[in-house]
Amino acid sequence: MHLKKVEIQGFKSFADKTEIEFKEGITAIVGPNGSGKSNVSDAIRWVLGEQSVKTLRGSKMEDIIFSGTSKRKPLGYSEVTITFDNKNGSIPIDYTEVAVTRRMFRSGESEYYINKNSCRLKDVRELFMDTGVGKDGYSIIGQGRIDEILSTRPEDRRHIFEEAAGIVKYKTRKEEAERK
Ligand code: ATP
Ligand code: MG
Repeated sequence: MHLKKVEIQGFKSFADKTEIEFKEGITAIVGPNGSGKSNVSDAIRWVLGEQSVKTLRGSKMEDIIFSGTSKRKPLGYSEVTITFDNKNGSIPIDYTEVAVTRRMFRSGESEYYINKNSCRLKDVRELFMDTGVGKDGYSIIGQGRIDEILSTRPEDRRHIFEEAAGIVKYKTRKEEAERK
């Protein structure tokens, strides 16, 4: 599965609409301290449904919306879209390209879209379950995560392998059914 594009508008330091394309091969984002490199990975986590303000390095969810500068007014909402190539069908949906969008206003409510169709966060979660891409998937390895993988309790480590093996979906459904 290939992440082709990230479009960011109003998220953290990205006031203007910014499009980042990822070609085949390795892409590195470089820049001085505080220039917004980590904000790009935060945006990817956020659009995939990250709800933890701490993980997004803020103190409240509103902190992810562009807060203005001396020359620029704060913005009213944040919107991020990421587009995956799905020609090999690894995302279980009948499209060769999959775009996920999240939009959030200062009131705090988030809207989610899959290929421009409004959906629930649950739909986004389910779509990426077992693909390794979800907000907790192994495809995003943040600072400190390597240590975590090496040192956490075996039960936590097991989750990583379950995701890779593609059984998280079934486990989640089972747990949901048992709760009802
Ligand atoms: P480093 O090399 O130190 O890791 P970085 O390139 O990863 O730096 P980021 O952490 O991505 O930098 O970006 C931090 C910048 O984002 C800071 O300048 C901060 O002011 C800005 N920023 C964070 N949230 C917002 C927001 N809501 N509105 C405007 N700017 C923001
Ligand atoms: Mg950084």
